[in-house]
Amino acid sequence: MELLFAPLFSGSSGNSIYVGTEDEAVIVDAGVSASAIISEMGRAGLSPASVKALLVTHEHTDHINGAGALARKLGVPVYATEGTWEGMSRRAGKLADSQKVRIERGSDFYIGRINVLPFPIPHDCRMPCGYTFAIGNVKVSVATDIGCIKAGWTDAVTGSDLVLLESNYDPDMLMAGPYPYELKQRILGRRGHLSNEDAGAAAVLLVNTGTRALILGHLSKENNFPELALETSRGVLAENDIRAGQDVYLSYARREGLSGVYRVSDTLGVERVI
Ligand SMILES: [Zn+2]
Ligand SMILES: [Zn+2]
Repeated sequence: MELLFAPLFSGSSGNSIYVGTEDEAVIVDAGVSASAIISEMGRAGLSPASVKALLVTHEHTDHINGAGALARKLGVPVYATEGTWEGMSRRAGKLADSQKVRIERGSDFYIGRINVLPFPIPHDCRMPCGYTFAIGNVKVSVATDIGCIKAGWTDAVTGSDLVLLESNYDPDMLMAGPYPYELKQRILGRRGHLSNEDAGAAAVLLVNTGTRALILGHLSKENNFPELALETSRGVLAENDIRAGQDVYLSYARREGLSGVYRVSDTLGVERVI
């Protein structure tokens, strides 16, 4: 059993991730244009024909910008919570009723052979969720746009082989940076985003429960650097006797395009294939 995991875009300028097998997959979020997503899939050697559904985490623009267009282009249904549908219906444009699927956080479902569990996350919108994906013993998770570490989501993600984990900002850069006071408070708040230190703490928790690969994602353009995010997590892991690169694979997801294609299998573990 295996799953492919490919972050196509990650960050406040747009998010989109491919998860699945070579012939049965989903796209999580479409925060950039449909054509950009399809083009990055092409670079990754992934076929649009394999995509069976678009799963949305929440209604913020960086997650839904191209959602309606992508669903129409691929002719696939869009899965989102009731609250997210309320927040994004207008933006998504015209979709057939059969393309609008309502899901509930905490209730799992199947896309082909892939078991999908949407789980609640603390974030400042109506009804946001992260997702876990499992096939056989293989499990991967998308955990971004999260205000704080909380059992509600860490419990769901626990046991994942690979996690795309938010590492949004460096607190010093955020405070010294150009954002208005209210926005800084929103990001720092318990329904905002995870800092690099938070990501490190979550990383320790996850590695201790079996996670073998962590991809830091949703890095802020203004308030973070990839090397700083990696260094902070490496440091927190080291304080807990976990060696990044040996005990756990640690990388980051790029903002502008494909970060790589990861193959997660129950026999070979996690390997980067592209
Ligand atoms: Zn976001
Ligand atoms: Zn958000």
